[in-house]
Amino acid sequence: MGAPDALTATLSSTTEIGHFIAGQAVASRSGRRQPVYNPTTGAVARQVALASTDEVNVGVAAAQAASPAWSDTPPIRRARVLFKFLELMNQHRDTLAAMITAEHGKVFTDAQGEVSRGIDIIEFSCGIPQLLKGDYTEQVSTGIDNWTLRQPLGVVAGITPFNFPVMVPCWMFPVAIAAGNCFVLKPSERDPSPSLFMAELLKQAGLPDGVFNVVQGDKLAVDTLLTHPDVKAISFVGSTPIAQYIYETGAHHGKRVQALGGAKNHMVVMPDADLEQTVDALIGAGYGSAGERCMAISVAVAVGDVADKLVPALAARAKTLKVKNGLELDAEMGPIVTREALERITGYIAAGVAEGATLVVDGRVDPVSGKPFQVPGFEGGFFIGGTLFDHVTADMRIYREEIFGPVLVVVRVPDFAAAVKLVNDHEYGNGVACFTSDGNVAREFARRIQVGMVGINVPIPVPMAWHGFGGWKKSLFGDMHAYGEEGVRFYTKQKSVMQRWPASIAKGAEFVMPTAK
Ligand code: NAD
Repeated sequence: MGAPDALTATLSSTTEIGHFIAGQAVASRSGRRQPVYNPTTGAVARQVALASTDEVNVGVAAAQAASPAWSDTPPIRRARVLFKFLELMNQHRDTLAAMITAEHGKVFTDAQGEVSRGIDIIEFSCGIPQLLKGDYTEQVSTGIDNWTLRQPLGVVAGITPFNFPVMVPCWMFPVAIAAGNCFVLKPSERDPSPSLFMAELLKQAGLPDGVFNVVQGDKLAVDTLLTHPDVKAISFVGSTPIAQYIYETGAHHGKRVQALGGAKNHMVVMPDADLEQTVDALIGAGYGSAGERCMAISVAVAVGDVADKLVPALAARAKTLKVKNGLELDAEMGPIVTREALERITGYIAAGVAEGATLVVDGRVDPVSGKPFQVPGFEGGFFIGGTLFDHVTADMRIYREEIFGPVLVVVRVPDFAAAVKLVNDHEYGNGVACFTSDGNVAREFARRIQVGMVGINVPIPVPMAWHGFGGWKKSLFGDMHAYGEEGVRFYTKQKSVMQRWPASIAKGAEFVMPTAK
């Protein structure tokens, strides 16, 4: 299906986006709702239900009821359901991508890429029988064997951000349910539709009712999950202040928590980097998805005199970005998700000017006419062009804070050591890149940098499904990364079993710590 057909399918969906509990679409009972926008036109497209505490409790109860049978289902049979789900996700990839574009605004081709990266995790999760294989030691003492196995936690919950409404939930639920848990997803209220579509596909794939549930909602739903005694673990992805709150509150209530937060990702550009490749990489990583990616590059660290060539080349390209309706297949950048987010971004541009940074390209104005930026035919949409600042310093807010929009700032530093120090001193540590043609510099960079995910001549180093995703410092609260083997460990608890059979039992009680005999 191409983009326009997929959009038609999307628009024929109902106007209220409800929950999915125990294998059924469930309408709001509480009457709490909020609008979901089409960011391309700026119009309200639908309403999303906001669950009450009671409604969340019903979702958790459904998951709890499904838990004994699902956790007892052999892993290979759980994997077979995921294989079927994988097939359905591939079949409906474009429908999901169009749903993402309709509510998030990112360009359709980028949304297709998002769905593909989500599908990667489902493929990984299909290998769960192998991933759950335990360790066994024969004869740890005479006649005694010891082995370890991993068992599911029970009911686990995921709370996800607006910027990847398919991929980020897929970081969580395929691994969790493959490992034998039942899942409650609380998606972002900005783009809630794809989660319901995935729930329907899981049902079609044969997933028993109650194993995967979706409750739409806001802080009330999140707080209910965070404090619910039957929820054993919380996976969160979103902004840093909320991530910290989730981590602290969840831990206080005895839950295992992984809470991935915000970012300020740097790309260090060495004087020997290939300029053309670096400019392409910075433009894609800075302005792709309108900068609304946790792995977007928002700071170019120009080493030595490279900025003198880099900044004019970036400026020329930033002014010709194709900003348009994301369903047009040549679009490079779509709208911002909401009007509030757009206002936050324009506020940061004003702050940068006030702080004395050099505004090289101003996304608030059309580069040709000089009038306020608009996309013809979509004057109500939440559009802005790409912005570029030069001569930014480490004390400025546009350097320190996450803008989460298409604003790229250039910081000039004298040498490699200063570049490494700048990155390491930043409070975030999600992703980072170094562009260079010197292998030794690249190696030193990867070793010394205090960041969780590193790209060498790769601008957005999002790890593949089997490697796991996670930042350092204020970009991750908790100790385990998302998906990959860390994900399997997060969603399971280890049990150690030691066995001895009667024939070898020694006579009499033993009062000293057992040691190998
Ligand atoms: P957000 O923190 O506003 O929302 C994330 C989730 O938390 C949503 O489901 C939302 O409903 C819920 N939430 C919001 N406010 C809450 C509150 N006060 N109490 C309880 N729950 C609350 O984030 P967002 O705007 O949806 O997403 C963008 C942010 O996510 C950026 O900061 C971005 O860097 C980050 N992000 C990080 C990663 C990562 O892997 N580190 C990935 C994607 C996005």
